[in-house]
Amino acid sequence: MTIDVPQEILDALTDVDMPRLPPEAPASGAARLAGIDVPVYRAGCVVAGSGAAGLRAAVEMKRRGDDVVVISQSAWGGTSACSGSDKQTLHTANTADQGDNYKAMARAIRSGGAMDEDTAYVEAVGSSRMMASLQFLGLPLPQDPLGGTLRYQTDHDEVGRATSCGPRTSRLMVKVLAEEAIRLGVPFYNQTTAVKILTEGDGTDRHVVGILMMRAGDRTQENPLGIALFVSDVIVLAAGGPGELYRDSVYPNGCFGSLGLALEAGIELVNLTESQFGIGTRREGFPWNLSGTYVQAIPHIYSVDMQGVEHHFLGEYYRSTQELASNVFRKGYQWPFHATRMLDFGSSLVDLAIYRETAAGRRVFMDFNRNPLPVPGDLPFGLERLDEDVRLYLGKAGADQDMPIDRLKHMNPLAIELYRRYKIDIAAEPLEFAVNNQHMNGGLMVDVWGRSNLRGCYAVGEAAGTHGVTRPGGAALNAGQVFGTRVAEHISASGRAKRAAADDITTTAEAGIVDLLGALRTESPLSVKSIRADVQARMSEKAGIICDQESVSGALSEARKLNADIRDQGIAYGRGAEAVRGVQWRHMALASEAVLTALDFFIRNGGGSRGARAICDTQGESLPLVRSGPLQQYRFRKERPAHREEQIVVRLDGNEIVLSTRPNRTFDESARSFFERDWPAWLTGRIYDLADE
Ligand SMILES: Cc1cc2nc3c(=O)[nH]c(=O)nc-3n(C[C@H](O)[C@H](O)[C@H](O)COP(=O)(O)OP(=O)(O)OC[C@H]3O[C@@H](n4cnc5c(N)ncnc54)[C@H](O)[C@@H]3O)c2cc1C
Repeated sequence: MTIDVPQEILDALTDVDMPRLPPEAPASGAARLAGIDVPVYRAGCVVAGSGAAGLRAAVEMKRRGDDVVVISQSAWGGTSACSGSDKQTLHTANTADQGDNYKAMARAIRSGGAMDEDTAYVEAVGSSRMMASLQFLGLPLPQDPLGGTLRYQTDHDEVGRATSCGPRTSRLMVKVLAEEAIRLGVPFYNQTTAVKILTEGDGTDRHVVGILMMRAGDRTQENPLGIALFVSDVIVLAAGGPGELYRDSVYPNGCFGSLGLALEAGIELVNLTESQFGIGTRREGFPWNLSGTYVQAIPHIYSVDMQGVEHHFLGEYYRSTQELASNVFRKGYQWPFHATRMLDFGSSLVDLAIYRETAAGRRVFMDFNRNPLPVPGDLPFGLERLDEDVRLYLGKAGADQDMPIDRLKHMNPLAIELYRRYKIDIAAEPLEFAVNNQHMNGGLMVDVWGRSNLRGCYAVGEAAGTHGVTRPGGAALNAGQVFGTRVAEHISASGRAKRAAADDITTTAEAGIVDLLGALRTESPLSVKSIRADVQARMSEKAGIICDQESVSGALSEARKLNADIRDQGIAYGRGAEAVRGVQWRHMALASEAVLTALDFFIRNGGGSRGARAICDTQGESLPLVRSGPLQQYRFRKERPAHREEQIVVRLDGNEIVLSTRPNRTFDESARSFFERDWPAWLTGRIYDLADE
């Protein structure tokens, strides 16, 4: 990137104003339920969540004539609107030069294993359409003079399928989709949190009939918690990822997702063992990933101990200054931690080293005013002494400046600007950072139309468990757009959301409210604060990038005990506004037990290191080496190839988390469509597989 861009253009890419929401439509009635006057809203479909995925679903449904409403905990909160990396990427088909091969792209998307092959193809083949429709809505994706989209290489992407509108790409996606939703007249209900899914029927006949909310706008003296009933036969969970699960997290504040909500409703979850972790600044300050040019500028990384003494810790890991500097650079496009990259002096040794420093109570910093210090006994840092790939990249980028800050200024001035907006001047002072949790690859188990196992409940975006062990950078945003569109197509084809639901679900709703209130007890010793501290510390310390069987199973016992205590004693809350957090932390405690149950099961069954986590084992086949020799305590197990072919499914049965495995769905790459043969299935709607609905 050239620095020759006027400031106002850079500002417009960084400060993205969101549209004003229309006034809320009033409730269609009220009911006295469990002693409370509860407003009743009715809709054909309720989309829970207003991130990029939920808004896509809502827009696509409204355009097909469905009666859809969007409800959101925080309209412009969540990950799409508030998070980023130095470029937030959108993974799309590579049309920049010679086009793409969707089958090859699908293979790249599922290359980490434990991913349904048909889903990967759906995401690949859908991506061109997603990009084009976002451009149609006004998303300013960069082009060359002939209309080709500018692209670059990102994580798990050998071809260069990433594109970006700068640091706020996903916020810009939310903006254009929200503008469209407002233009189409989609009703929004803000500060409205889904707290309980209501179902009727048994076995395969069990289906959604509505959803209970807690709404700031509906709090009254008679209804102090603002409980509201939304009656609808169809819901789309688009509530994002469980960012609050970990203490060390680069998610924006207040991301709870819907794993606990779904478990309580009997919905099956999948791939909960798979997440992403990587370096970034934490959400206590300004949460941002330090990928791309932040590390490609090759700043000096060091730690400071409790006595204020500085440590050049990376110098103890790599054998030469060249190796150290080149691996810091590679974090730019090998951003997520990956166990195998700890081997052969690879780039994930950087994550391990930072993780160890932090665990030892040291603070870790990136200094853009210093080049990396030399590895003891080796030559000093020099731009001419870098691995070939790194030297070539920096040469091509014209980043030959002496200091990291000047290289960063040259390659990506927005990177500096962005932190300045949050009162952090990385040109003047070092930046504190850590290894953080960033993404949940698992989630609600869905089919190729986004359907969960609960009839009427769909999931899209990070709420859905559509990713496997790895995902190319930008694949999350693409998946949200593709599946947002697919659920809309499916719901519309079913005809079930054309009109607001008219059912009388008083008995079910009343039972749901009684259950909800039963868990909120002002006298409980368990508070939102204590549960948060307990869950987050356990997840970050026992289920982060470094795990072993003993500590995971210990963590699972603690998580089970916490949930038993919550069932016995409930959760205390102070003001009405705090009650919703009480429910969300109950859900989070459950989600944490589900993740640990799946992880414990995986490790017990010989599960090895893959994606987010290294599974350490004294008998493990892989041993990371550092300059002084082997790191025996981080000897880790290899992944078992058979585990790539299956997924772990989790559901709640009574109070117990129940596990099973299922093979990945397959996709026949040799199958060809044939127009005359396949057209009738499209014309008659057979492609939607609605026979059992
Ligand atoms: C630092 C960082 C960088 C990232 N970079 C990239 C990248 O470069 N490319 C990429 O593809 N992905 C990236 N990701 C991941 C990606 O941003 C998310 O997966 C994606 O934005 C999720 O979109 P979503 O619409 O599913 O959820 P979100 O955008 O999180 O939206 C969730 C919505 O649901 C609402 N909500 C939550 N709970 C409830 C509830 N119970 N009731 C009602 N509403 C609720 C929230 O208020 C919000 O409106 C990054 C993530 C992080 C944290």
